[in-house]
Amino acid sequence: MTGGMTETPYWKTKSLVEMSLTEWEALCDGCGLCCLNKLEDWDTGEVVFTSVACTLLDGNTCQCKDYSHRQTIVPDCIQLTPDQVDTIAWLPPTCGYRLVHEGRDLYWWHPLVSGDPDTVHQAGISARGRTISEDEVDVEDFEDFVVDWPLTVGETVE
Ligand code: SF4
Ligand code: SF4
Repeated sequence: MTGGMTETPYWKTKSLVEMSLTEWEALCDGCGLCCLNKLEDWDTGEVVFTSVACTLLDGNTCQCKDYSHRQTIVPDCIQLTPDQVDTIAWLPPTCGYRLVHEGRDLYWWHPLVSGDPDTVHQAGISARGRTISEDEVDVEDFEDFVVDWPLTVGETVE
């Protein structure tokens, strides 16, 4: 058989729990948004993002600087699992895991779609160049760094 048949990509055919580790990892678009410190309003439970990034986040590449040892160095680093995708309310609406969990397709700028890890940055989705390391900010001052550029659930992208 020649040409014409395009295989349906795995994120459209598999649920999160059915994915291999490689497929699961590739679903992360590399936006770095979940590596930002968040603040929770004690009264309302609302979670807001700050531009204060985890000590291990490379603010330019949005990659973890020591992914394999991250949970030793940063014990509260969240190891996302299929179960958690449903329960973590602050996971951005652009997140590949959330999109697939909600039965939606990935956006054009997702590296799995574009074939280019840089498009998530070009599209302005990621935290690239917009963060400050938590090593440089007192915890008491985090509230001075609250930002509204990570989209939250209910907001949409082009
Ligand atoms: S928000 Fe989702 S897509 Fe972005 S870095 Fe975190 S896990 Fe990956
Ligand atoms: S340890 Fe790495 S993956 Fe975890 S929050 Fe920090 S930068 Fe992100």
